[in-house]
Amino acid sequence: MQYDFFLAEDALFPKMVVVSITNICNYLCTQCFYPRYIKQPEYHRHDMVMAVFCRIADELGRHHSSILRFIAWGEPLLHPDVVEFMQYARRVAPGNLVTLITNGYWLTPDRSHALMAAGLNLVEISIDAATPETYHRVRVSCNPDAFSKVEQNVKKMVSQRNNFEFRTRIVVSFIVYPSKESEAEYVLFEQKWNGIADEIIRRPVHTFKGSVQLIKKQMSAPRPPCYGLWARCNINPWGQVNVCYNDWENKYVLGDLRNPATSIASIWQGRILTRLRAAQCKGVFEGICAGCHDYNPDAWSHPYEQVVSRCYIK
Ligand code: SF4
Repeated sequence: MQYDFFLAEDALFPKMVVVSITNICNYLCTQCFYPRYIKQPEYHRHDMVMAVFCRIADELGRHHSSILRFIAWGEPLLHPDVVEFMQYARRVAPGNLVTLITNGYWLTPDRSHALMAAGLNLVEISIDAATPETYHRVRVSCNPDAFSKVEQNVKKMVSQRNNFEFRTRIVVSFIVYPSKESEAEYVLFEQKWNGIADEIIRRPVHTFKGSVQLIKKQMSAPRPPCYGLWARCNINPWGQVNVCYNDWENKYVLGDLRNPATSIASIWQGRILTRLRAAQCKGVFEGICAGCHDYNPDAWSHPYEQVVSRCYIK
């Protein structure tokens, strides 16, 4: 297989701009790096400031085929200005698809309505369980009602979307562990959400560079280059661009969008990423990628962009 940009324009600007808008969460999930992240002495809460987000959205608006994805090193709906960010993005980047991943706890009817009215194209709610027992084991929350609240939020959002004729696509996701129990629960999850959610996404478990050692992942050999380097620009809550969304410790920074001389395009086309891509094509994995077990070899044939592109289906 030839590993390269699919389209010439992808070499100029990333297919997907992944913006982590905050670094706080209301959960302490066992499968996430967050509980370890907040114990680091340097940790302090930071919400992306509007001026930084505006720079990102303004540049994105000049590249209509690029997708904006709101994420967090935590939970994006805990950013106090998430709706304003969405509204601004829609104003300056009207042709770009805008997506959001959330744990769904704060996806209350008011917030859902505001996000859909602002023009959110796709929301992914990561639920990861079909039963309250599994939910409370993996998604550690101080709220005993968390599982039922998330399920109700999603169902209310679907009916709100239908009643108000919003176009937002609502998808739910489940992280499957390599065990019979997890596979069986995924089947239950599918039965539960079939006909309610627009799509059900199955995700492999993630180790966050091996920091969350839930399983020993079997990776493909020979190791292919990581699709992310050809398709994702990852921006942290301060406005720095990281090699990977996995870099919560912020050790592999490619540039800083607070610097007026820097842009997403210049970092994307820059020397460091070009060198990392060329090295990976030769089977050399450096820096954060050296010990990574979280790259997805299937992403080259089944990228997440396929899920997002279904927003165009009437
Ligand atoms: S190989 Fe791993 S660390 Fe490197 S970009 Fe891909 S997912 Fe991130």
